Amino acid sequence: MGGTFDPIHYGHLLAAEETRYRFALSKVIFVPCGVPPHKKTYEVTPAEHRYSMTVLATASNHSFFVSRVEIDRPGPSYAVDTVKIFRQQFGEGSELFFITGLDAVLEILTWKSHDELIRLCRFIAVTRPGYDAQKLKEKLPPYYLNSIDLLVIPGIDISSTMIRERVRKGEPIRYLTPDTVCDYIFKHGLYK
Ligand code: NAP
Repeated sequence: MGGTFDPIHYGHLLAAEETRYRFALSKVIFVPCGVPPHKKTYEVTPAEHRYSMTVLATASNHSFFVSRVEIDRPGPSYAVDTVKIFRQQFGEGSELFFITGLDAVLEILTWKSHDELIRLCRFIAVTRPGYDAQKLKEKLPPYYLNSIDLLVIPGIDISSTMIRERVRKGEPIRYLTPDTVCDYIFKHGLYK
């Protein structure tokens, strides 16, 4: 499960658990981006903080793991490099799924070596309320669509942006992300 996780929240956790169940996955590995390769409109929080919050949020689930592969790799975190590492680690017989947000998947044609990437694993695109499935058909060629499954998470409209803004305005974030993550954010004064 790839993402910037700035911060991780219940939308990500619910999506991971639902995917694990629906696709009968043996494990879900959260992969916080080291250096996001695409332009961000805000300054991304240092990777170690995003990694620590991801570990805290996933610790109680026996099927959830967190990888440092992108954090420890210098340079931009290209998904194709990460998937190749997992392919090598788990062997050719393993089935790999790249879980991430629909909005990110819609931009896949701008990703490095996207044609190779789409052949290395299946994609699971997680939706938010109000998503437009038509956009996938408009933006991506048919053979990409064959490698992408939509995962509809009804009723959960939490985003990392919303959490960052709420912290900045002094609004509560409890019940949007686990208490351990809330405590970590306040302890380290993130998103002020
Ligand atoms: P983003 O543009 O920050 O996020 C796009 C949308 O997807 C946001 O609405 C985001 O919501 C949501 N999202 C992101 N990760 C999610 C997840 N795991 N589950 C559910 N929703 C998620 O995208 P990003 O987080 O930086 O990147 C997503 C993944 O795509 C990362 O693994 C990144 O490395 C990869 N990527 C690769 C390339 C490349 O290889 N060139 C380029 C771009 C992205 P939240 O903000 O609430 O998470």
